[in-house]
Amino acid sequence: MIVIHYSEIGLKGKNRSFFERKLVDNIGVALKGLQYESIERGHKKVVISAEADKDKQEFRKRLKLIPGISYLFFAVTSELDIEEMKKHLLKLSESYQPCRFAVDTKRSNKRFPFTSVEVNRILGEVLNQRGWPVDLTNPEITFSVELAEKEAYLYAERIQGPGGLPVGSAGRLVALLSGGIDSPVAAYRMLRRGSSIIYLHFYNFTQVTNITKDKVRRIVQILQRYQPQAKLYMVPFEEIQRAIIAVVPSKYRMIVYRRVMFEIANLVAGQVGASGLVTGDSLGQVASQTLENLNVIYKRAKHPVFAPLIGYDKQEIVDMAKQIGTYETSILPYSDCCSLFIDRHPETKADLESIEQIESGLKIEEQVKGALESAEIISV
Ligand code: ATP
Ligand code: MG
Repeated sequence: MIVIHYSEIGLKGKNRSFFERKLVDNIGVALKGLQYESIERGHKKVVISAEADKDKQEFRKRLKLIPGISYLFFAVTSELDIEEMKKHLLKLSESYQPCRFAVDTKRSNKRFPFTSVEVNRILGEVLNQRGWPVDLTNPEITFSVELAEKEAYLYAERIQGPGGLPVGSAGRLVALLSGGIDSPVAAYRMLRRGSSIIYLHFYNFTQVTNITKDKVRRIVQILQRYQPQAKLYMVPFEEIQRAIIAVVPSKYRMIVYRRVMFEIANLVAGQVGASGLVTGDSLGQVASQTLENLNVIYKRAKHPVFAPLIGYDKQEIVDMAKQIGTYETSILPYSDCCSLFIDRHPETKADLESIEQIESGLKIEEQVKGALESAEIISV
C-alpha cells in the first residue's frame, strides 16, 4: 500500500475534489507501465494498492516528483486493533538494526479508543522490551502510525514530494525557454503551482546544429517528469533577426528581439489556449532585465507575464536548477539567439516611446507569420 498526502489541496474547501481528481489523474499517467490494483481518493489522501516490494524504487522515483504531493510512504496495513498493530510494528522493525527510536502516531480517526500519546507509549514499549532505546528528541528512526477510518498504516520512512498543486489545476501558460539556466527553473516554479506548460524556443538556424537543438528538447524532457505531457514549439528566428538587425541599432536589438518573441508568444498562446507567459527574468541580472527594459519588453505581451525568479539571486536559481535536474543540461554550450549581434554596451534604460519609434521602421508581419508557420511542434 502506498499512501500519499497532499498539503495545499487540503485547504481547498468545496473545490477539493477537483484538485484531488487532477492529482489522481496525474499519478495514473506518471505510473504508466507499473503494476498496481487501484488508485483511490481517501480522506485527505490518495491510496495506491500495490504489491509491497514490487518496483518499489520505480514507484518512489516517479511519485516523489509529482506536484501536489506533500509526502508519501510505503505502508504496512493493520486492522484498527492495538494488538494487531504491535505485531505489525515488530515485523516492520525487523528490517532495521535496533537504534534510538520514537513512535509518532497521527490519529485522524477520533473514534479509536486510545489517544495518539497512548498509542506511542504502548507500541514503543514493545520495541523497548526488545532492546530498542527510546529517544524522543533525537531518534535515529521514527516509526509512524496513522490511524485512518478503516485501518492503520505503519511506516518507517517518509518520502518528501515537491508540494504545490497538481499540474493542470491552474490553467495553461506558454513558457519562453532559452536553453539557459534560468528559464527551465521558472517553468518548473509555475508547473509546481499547478499550471500546465507549453514550451516555446526561438533559435537561429545558422547558429544551431542538431546537437544543440537537442539540448532544448532534453531540457523539456527533464521538465516532463513533473508534467504528464509536454509540447515544445521550436520557432526559427533567423529571418526576423535579420530584419531587426537591418533596422534597429545594436544597442536596442536585445530589447526588440525580446519584444518580438513576446509577439509570437501571444500568437502561440492563442493557438494553445494559454492565458499567460512565463520567463526566466531575474531583476537586474543582465541588461535586458533592468526594471526599465522589462517594462518596455513586457508591454508587448497580451497576457500577464509571470517571472517567478524575479526576486531570486543567481546562486539560488542555480541551486534550484540542480535540484530539479536541469542544471547539467543547461550549462552545455549553446549560443542563444538573443546574444547575436548585440552591442557590448546595450541600452539599460529603454523607454517605450523611443523603442516604438525605432520599431516603426520594422516591417516583419510576413516574417512573423512565416516563423510561426514553419515552427516545429515536438511532443515530448
Ligand atoms: P536564461 O538563463 O533563462 O537563458 P538569461 O539570464 O540568459 O536567462 P536573457 O537571455 O535575457 O536572460 O533571457 C531572459 C528570458 O527571455 C529567458 O529566461 C527566456 O524566458 C526568454 N528567452 C531568451 N532567449 C530565448 C529564446 N531563444 N527562446 C525563448 N525564450 C528566450
Ligand atoms: Mg539566456
